[in-house]
Amino acid sequence: MKRFLALVLALLCLALCFAGCTAAKDDKANDESTEATEAEGEGSKPKPVLKMATNAYFQPYEFYKDGKIVGIDAEIAAAIAEYLGYELVIEDMEFDTIITAVKAGSVDFGMAGMTITEDRLLEVDFSNSYATGVQSVIVKADSAITKVDDLFADGATYKAGVQQGTTGDIYATGDLGESRVTPYNNANNAVLALIGGDVDCVIIDNEPAKALVAANSGLKILDTSYADEDYAICIKKGNTELLGKINEAIVALTKDGTIDAIVAKYIPAN
Ligand code: GLN
Repeated sequence: MKRFLALVLALLCLALCFAGCTAAKDDKANDESTEATEAEGEGSKPKPVLKMATNAYFQPYEFYKDGKIVGIDAEIAAAIAEYLGYELVIEDMEFDTIITAVKAGSVDFGMAGMTITEDRLLEVDFSNSYATGVQSVIVKADSAITKVDDLFADGATYKAGVQQGTTGDIYATGDLGESRVTPYNNANNAVLALIGGDVDCVIIDNEPAKALVAANSGLKILDTSYADEDYAICIKKGNTELLGKINEAIVALTKDGTIDAIVAKYIPAN
């Protein structure tokens, strides 16, 4: 009987202990959910702001839709900001003031279909490249210019319109000379000059060129391209912390397919 009682007591102890343990576990679970709730509470605090500079007349990378800046760069930047726990704020400015703003620290980074070049690398740092670009030439559908080389032929006097401060501007000025190149403050104005007959062609990145040709009748893009380039995000020299974080985000968002999906959304495969 004693043995029986001892067994019952032992079982009772075990049962109590088990209940206790379970309760302790439940408490822990409760603690964790409280922590989670607290963490969520923290999450609702405003996130730190990450300020991006762009020039929002560069479809499909950045352009206005219903009063909002959208496009490949805007969406990739938003994904990077979300990955890093920041709130993205986009500031629209002239393309050739972006690097100045980044250097001055009035914005955290510049993202504008911006090509990595040796000269720019002297002024700012660049992230890993997230996309490639091609410089193309837009002409009127009935233009005498049929290939890029026509622009450089001996005795040729064709004039090119470009966006001020872009690689199209830099390369064209180098190849054609300043007198044959007119810089405009954005792509739309360069195309209006082509339509109006002030210039004979517009040298600009291929995807914006396609959008401009689609939006304006009587224009075409030459089959041959002018230059191949890599786009990247520019950051103030020495801000290695932000550069590291942005590169980490680009690697992760490339790996999980986010960047490809954003590009495919705006540039559907032919
Ligand atoms: N890719 C070109 C450059 O970096 C043009 C960029 C742009 O006009 N937004 O100069």
